[in-house]
Amino acid sequence: MDEASEVEPIDPDVPSAEGPTDAVEPPHDQAAEPVAARRTGRRALVIALAVGVPLVLTGAVFAVLAAAGTFDEPEPPQLTASQAERIDAEFAEREDLLAELDYQRTEYELDLSDWTQSEEWTEEYLADTAQPTPSVPNPGGTALPGADPTGRAFLDAIGATDVTVFFEAGPDNCGYYGNGGTELGYAGGCFRPEYPNSLYMAWDPQAESVAWSIFVHEAMHWYQDEHYIQATYLADFAGVDFESYSSVWEADASCRAVYSYGMTLEDYVDTTSPCTIAGWYEGYITDYLVSRGANLTEPDPAAYEPVETSRP
Ligand SMILES: [Zn+2]
Repeated sequence: MDEASEVEPIDPDVPSAEGPTDAVEPPHDQAAEPVAARRTGRRALVIALAVGVPLVLTGAVFAVLAAAGTFDEPEPPQLTASQAERIDAEFAEREDLLAELDYQRTEYELDLSDWTQSEEWTEEYLADTAQPTPSVPNPGGTALPGADPTGRAFLDAIGATDVTVFFEAGPDNCGYYGNGGTELGYAGGCFRPEYPNSLYMAWDPQAESVAWSIFVHEAMHWYQDEHYIQATYLADFAGVDFESYSSVWEADASCRAVYSYGMTLEDYVDTTSPCTIAGWYEGYITDYLVSRGANLTEPDPAAYEPVETSRP
């Protein structure tokens, strides 16, 4: 503490000549100079002391702490049983969360992969322009009964502008088997996914009256694929294979014809695809597939967050 010895002693009982505060400016005359000089020198010394003492003290404390080994590796804290328990629980909780994060990330990646694949397949399917090859002519001819003999007006009206009717009685027309040599007349149509722009139609002359309703049913299959083919891919990814709901798909086509395009329930009662969905509505088939476990929406990353998050 050498600095302290240099401080000019100040007698607390002697009032300062300059007044109660150092902040008062000295008068600007010659007589005041010596007083101001003294005060400045005293202030410098006081400042030196004020700063100097803590520095020395700090150094001393540092030395003592260092000597006492304060900067060595700390001893492990002594925990109570409940503190240790709490820490273990926190670790367990974090491990569960990490496992959940891994699981959800994998789920998201799988669902996103399915979604992307279904989109690609849908795009490819809808771009397909393959045309079937004729084999057996339709015994009923090459004109549909009524005012729309090629079905053109109807197809255009539902957006099937690239679709044409393929009058074909060969085995590729999966709905027509012929009358087997009997007196009965049959009519049958088929929509084949490998030819998405063709509707197979065939009928015996005596079954001409039902040809139109069957044509509309086949056109509804085009509509289903045009709008819901991706749903069938996604359903398949969820383990809902087409065979397990083909009868619902068939009923959906006939009901669409009944509820949306002027056909009647009776038109399909005696067919292999009656409309059996009471109160049918657009979107029925997707609701049905969802009820079977299909996930038909694009995966949203936020839905896979294991804990609620707040994002800006
Ligand atoms: Zn059908």
